[in-house]
Amino acid sequence: MTLTNDIKEFALDLGYTKVGITTAESFSDYIHELKSRGSKYDFYVQDPRQPLQGAEPQKLMPSAKSVICFAWDYAQKSFPESLIGKIGRIYQARCYNAPSHRINGARYQLMKDFLVKNGCQIGQGIFIPERWAAARAGITTFGKNNFAYAEGVGSFVVLSSIVVDVELEYDEPTLEIKCPEGCTACIKACPTQAIYEPNKLNPRRCIAFNAWFTQDGKPAGLTSHIPPEIREKMGTRVHGCDICQEVCPRNQAKLKSKLPDDEFLIKVAQDFSLSKMLNMTDEFYSTRIQPLMYNYIKDRKYFQRNAAIALGNLGEPSAIPDLEIALDDPEELVRSYAAWALGKIGGSTAKQILEKNHQKQTSEAVQKEIDAALEKIMVW
Ligand code: SF4
Ligand code: SF4
Repeated sequence: MTLTNDIKEFALDLGYTKVGITTAESFSDYIHELKSRGSKYDFYVQDPRQPLQGAEPQKLMPSAKSVICFAWDYAQKSFPESLIGKIGRIYQARCYNAPSHRINGARYQLMKDFLVKNGCQIGQGIFIPERWAAARAGITTFGKNNFAYAEGVGSFVVLSSIVVDVELEYDEPTLEIKCPEGCTACIKACPTQAIYEPNKLNPRRCIAFNAWFTQDGKPAGLTSHIPPEIREKMGTRVHGCDICQEVCPRNQAKLKSKLPDDEFLIKVAQDFSLSKMLNMTDEFYSTRIQPLMYNYIKDRKYFQRNAAIALGNLGEPSAIPDLEIALDDPEELVRSYAAWALGKIGGSTAKQILEKNHQKQTSEAVQKEIDAALEKIMVW
């Protein structure tokens, strides 16, 4: 057995769905592509993890020789119906950059331990372009929706990689879009037209991006503001969006297959609600938000904002009392979006609450949202 074979077998034994290996050479096409997207990706280029540098692993680690790439199928168990359309499957599966004390992070840690035990030096803090690396390592192809597809699995895979200083046997690249001819289902289904060309995304229009990246203090002038036009298209999605993967013919086999229950998710679904998320307690945050959505959003006010948007879009008057409570939230952001949601739901009760609060609220931002809500509100 060669080290390459040992590595691959160990990875498969750990449960990885696919494993492939590519060189640690620069991802020059990715760099070119990223630079060509201009202001659409300026927030990303300026990210503290420095993606442009990560795309040239040997500059950060001169001894780097290989990138070992892994894909893990995160749709091995079923997702509760009531969480679909609210929380993206990848977050429900608790696998995206999972910390090493949780099962999906422990798998990655075990893999690293194995490599070190076998004499490899591992690159630290190199932000590899995972989709490009996985395709160059022959384990995925691209979809026009920008997701990576693993043969026989689909796009519900989470990718990771490890850079090592050892030369290994390299796999044939599969850097290609492998969609059925003429298919544009994902482009047509995207509610915000975020996919403006095959394999080209404007993240600022993407629901997933708006749900988690719009936070104050982010690079390139990003703030917590979500344009009203996008809010309306978010539906009930509070974290992530799977629409362009759900409509994809390459995912239908997986979506139609009968998967075993995930008992943990069943428990979460039993007491998950948008109203609880809006006015969340510490317990709800630690048991229902953090285990699933621990990654992109650290501050609970953004979850509350997203819950307010979702309740507004749901349009059920039964949410009005919870939104009225949210108008007393200490966070200006939460009060602002609660006002927006009340305007969206409409009706005389919502209107009265907004009018009453116009006098009461001292924040200019909240008052502005109330004004905008009162201007558009439908009353019956
Ligand atoms: S994740 Fe949603 S909003 Fe983003 S591109 Fe796909 S369908 Fe559009
Ligand atoms: S929906 Fe069609 S075009 Fe889009 S990724 Fe899937 S197969 Fe490709």
